[in-house]
Amino acid sequence: MEERRREIQEQEKRIKMRMAKIKHKLAILSGKGGVGKSTVTTNLAAALAKRGYNVGVLDADIHGPSIPKLLGVRNEKLTTSQTGDQGFVPVEGPFGIQVVSMDFLLPSDETPVIWRGPMKMGAIKQFLADVDWGSLDFLLVDLPPGSGDEALSIMQLLPDIDGAIVVTAPSEVSQIVVKRAIGFTRELKVPVVGIVENMSGFVCPKCGTEIDIFKSGGGQKIAEQLGVPFLEKLPLDSKICEDSDNGAPFVLEHAETPAAKAFMRVVEKVEEYLKQGRNHEFSFSHLSVRKRRRSLFDE
Ligand code: ADP
Repeated sequence: MEERRREIQEQEKRIKMRMAKIKHKLAILSGKGGVGKSTVTTNLAAALAKRGYNVGVLDADIHGPSIPKLLGVRNEKLTTSQTGDQGFVPVEGPFGIQVVSMDFLLPSDETPVIWRGPMKMGAIKQFLADVDWGSLDFLLVDLPPGSGDEALSIMQLLPDIDGAIVVTAPSEVSQIVVKRAIGFTRELKVPVVGIVENMSGFVCPKCGTEIDIFKSGGGQKIAEQLGVPFLEKLPLDSKICEDSDNGAPFVLEHAETPAAKAFMRVVEKVEEYLKQGRNHEFSFSHLSVRKRRRSLFDE
């Protein structure tokens, strides 16, 4: 019992020590799966790396670890560091992005992740305590979808997290779950950097007509209701899906598209947010958080 307690304390110390070397930690979350959370994580990572930052991505989406596929590093395995502080070495993706995922621990594609709760949390803790991330400017943590136990426990493990980026699709049903996700960040006192509305509109490549397949504007509406910044609308683009399947970050492959430019604007807003510091009221020119912050619990 005593020994176990000491082990836990040691691990917590190691998490603190590793995380202290990382300047900024951001969690990417969504109310539900399939809205493009991992797509946003990888493209943000690529966009930040392109701007010269040292970036790491922790794929903490335990049941659907898709980051390695999106960054073209599937079938890689974590190795042990021979030098430095003797941890696991992340796998290196495009632009030097450091990647750690449950996927690197699974023997094959067919292996379902049916580990029990404590085992899964054990693995995440190990990723934070025993991976030699080195000195990073950014660690992006792709959380499991929803606001359940797993997302909660992982978020609590991250000391001094700078904020959370919430990804939603524009539809009504996504807005309901996003409300829950933002309530969740507030319970944990993690500031929300802002909402990204993904799959927002589609421009037909043949005739140029703009169609709102999943409606549009839901993300903005919920941001206003909850008093959090709205970051960007990312349109549907079939090249996002193709690039993801090819493991090539869309934002680098198709930099001239409106969706890639929108990703770059998200990065600029993240930089702006960090400049203001996590404890400051964050406002984009037209949106004052201070004014709107009260609304979540007023409803
Ligand atoms: P999540 O992490 O929320 O479960 P993913 O990032 O895995 O969702 O995205 C789900 C699917 O939707 C993937 O096939 C991805 O390529 C596709 N996708 C995500 N965003 C877009 C978009 N804006 N345009 C086209 N396809 C997209």
